[in-house]
Amino acid sequence: MAKLSQIIMLLLAAAACRAAEPTQEEIMARAAAIYAGRLAEHAIDLDADFTARVRRIAGGLIAQAQRDYPDTAQWAWEVHTTATAEQNADCMAGGKILVSQAYVERLGLSDAELAMLLAHEIEHAALYHNLLEYQAALRLAPVWSTRPFAELEYAVDNDRKLMALLADTNYAQEQEADREGLLLAWRAGWPAAQLSGYFRKMMRASESPRFGRSDYPSPSQRWRAAQAVAAGLQKNHVQPND
Ligand SMILES: [Zn+2]
Repeated sequence: MAKLSQIIMLLLAAAACRAAEPTQEEIMARAAAIYAGRLAEHAIDLDADFTARVRRIAGGLIAQAQRDYPDTAQWAWEVHTTATAEQNADCMAGGKILVSQAYVERLGLSDAELAMLLAHEIEHAALYHNLLEYQAALRLAPVWSTRPFAELEYAVDNDRKLMALLADTNYAQEQEADREGLLLAWRAGWPAAQLSGYFRKMMRASESPRFGRSDYPSPSQRWRAAQAVAAGLQKNHVQPND
């Protein structure tokens, strides 16, 4: 009997560990299920013109991402829009994009600026930021490896202690998505100086543009960094195909 209970304990421990160390495939499957739920709960694609505009711009960026990150060519990319004001825009793992028309209209984004917003979100997915965040969490707080994945998934956005440990990771991921997003959209054919305009509008719309957090750069920092990337491309006369 003791042997059987030991085996059961080992199996339970193995199951708990496995759950807390998700693979990219598991993260994408989970994102697809959550995305389907979000589409069901929001009114989506109500404005045909806006949805067509987002899909046209996202289409060029996705094609570029598929060239730059070959893994993403296998993804079932989806692009939808919502009128819901609480959303802004995101691209979940596996290429599931949802864009708020209210957010884009509130900021008055041009096509290039919308491309920058989309490219930033696409980079989070293409660079596996979710997977890397979970791996960082398990490295920094190994106690989470003994708990079910669903708890870790909730904790990275809600547990203050874990969030503090992940602050540097999250800050670096935001900066990386800004920089690589600008470069992705530029390679897709958008003028760099116009892309950086997104951050100027985001900064102007912010109530506290100079307020940064330990896990998130301030809008003014992001605007300065984007200007520097765009200026570097112009100064060196780099062409997207160089
Ligand atoms: Zn981001």
